[in-house]
Amino acid sequence: MKCPFCQHEETQVLDTRVSEEGDAIRRRRRCGKCDKRFTTYERIELVMPYVVKKNGSRTEYSSAKLRGSLELALRKRPVAAPAVDKAIASIEEKLLTSGQREVDTGYIGELVMQELQRLDNVAYIRFASVYKNFEDLAEFQNAIAEVGKPAR
Ligand SMILES: [Zn+2]
Repeated sequence: MKCPFCQHEETQVLDTRVSEEGDAIRRRRRCGKCDKRFTTYERIELVMPYVVKKNGSRTEYSSAKLRGSLELALRKRPVAAPAVDKAIASIEEKLLTSGQREVDTGYIGELVMQELQRLDNVAYIRFASVYKNFEDLAEFQNAIAEVGKPAR
């Protein structure tokens, strides 16, 4: 770590401790040349992965789009707003902790289906039928059969 005052490349760590919030490592450093002191913080970097569409184009992750899809599937269904918020938070946490730089829309679709299956069977069917773009009736019926299974 370069000294911010004189750009000298050798600095000494005087003290290392966890920040009060517990989310960072704080280090006191001293420059080996000018002897000035400064503090650095080390934090976990969590970045939303890019979303790769079916046609191969990449787009930034959009929380609003995710909410839109969920709300469309849940339209007029008896699911309270906090439950929807929780589902979105759960999906976003999985995306953040996936460690992937990019994910395809199929992966997000699967995460949405997992949450909808827990929230509301009708919404799940709505989303799955549109999303999975069923090719034949048997496939669709399999999806409906899946809904009958107890949620994890
Ligand atoms: Zn210095």
